[in-house]
Amino acid sequence: MTENTEIAMHEVSRLRVDCPHCGSHMKVRTSKTHLPDYRELYLHCTNEFACGFRCKASLGIIETLVPSYQPNPNVNIKFGAWLKRQIRLEAEGQMRLGIEEITKPKGNRHERHTH
Ligand SMILES: [Zn+2]
Repeated sequence: MTENTEIAMHEVSRLRVDCPHCGSHMKVRTSKTHLPDYRELYLHCTNEFACGFRCKASLGIIETLVPSYQPNPNVNIKFGAWLKRQIRLEAEGQMRLGIEEITKPKGNRHERHTH
């Protein structure tokens, strides 16, 4: 089972794409865009003479699984559900620890604004 996982990871790291027409391996060329979380890919079927399919694809970063230790302030990638839950649980834990200091009298919050 560990072996299978390793193979799968290896395939992911090489970004293997198969031709949708003939199933051959496709060569991947990336092109830079001005967006840090989006990239365009140019795919060429390696079965060049019998198939010859070429296409453009996109690679977009859609979700943060583990946040960066040095986040780019210009990059805003939404957090995955699991990560959001972790952050919420952590916040709840911290609130419980420091509840005496944080809690303020509730009266101030519901101040009435009369016009
Ligand atoms: Zn092909």
